[in-house]
Amino acid sequence: MNEDTKTPCPYCGTLVDKTEEVCPQCYAPLKQTQNTPEPSEGVEGPTKPAKQQAKLLAPTAVASLVLGILSINFSSLIIPGFILAAIGKRKANEGFDAIAANPDTYTGAGMLNAGRITSKVGLILSIVMIPIWIFYIAIYAIALSEGF
Ligand SMILES: [Zn+2]
Repeated sequence: MNEDTKTPCPYCGTLVDKTEEVCPQCYAPLKQTQNTPEPSEGVEGPTKPAKQQAKLLAPTAVASLVLGILSINFSSLIIPGFILAAIGKRKANEGFDAIAANPDTYTGAGMLNAGRITSKVGLILSIVMIPIWIFYIAIYAIALSEGF
């Protein structure tokens, strides 16, 4: 056993190798407490190192927004609306996790937020459609029974 090379995942508790950046069990980012480079020189004043690296859009940002919009479009069919909204919300959360884990690499919180909101709207509209469908089906059943 070489337990000193392993550390418990802060999210699920699984012992994972310290070299892992992501928990293989729950995919939570593990890096934030390790390998944080310390600013060794205070000579140049308190100005923060202005990295002007171009950030990448979080990998799920576009997907979450597209899924959120689709969930609104398909909310009238209820179940597709639910499914799209659930996946859209999940993709948004994954994107936020990616940004939290690598804030210097990823951006796109605005788009992820839009994905999260549109997914929520799609979910609400899907719920609203349930009584409307029941109403239509009831009307249709009555019409059938009345011989129309
Ligand atoms: Zn974990």
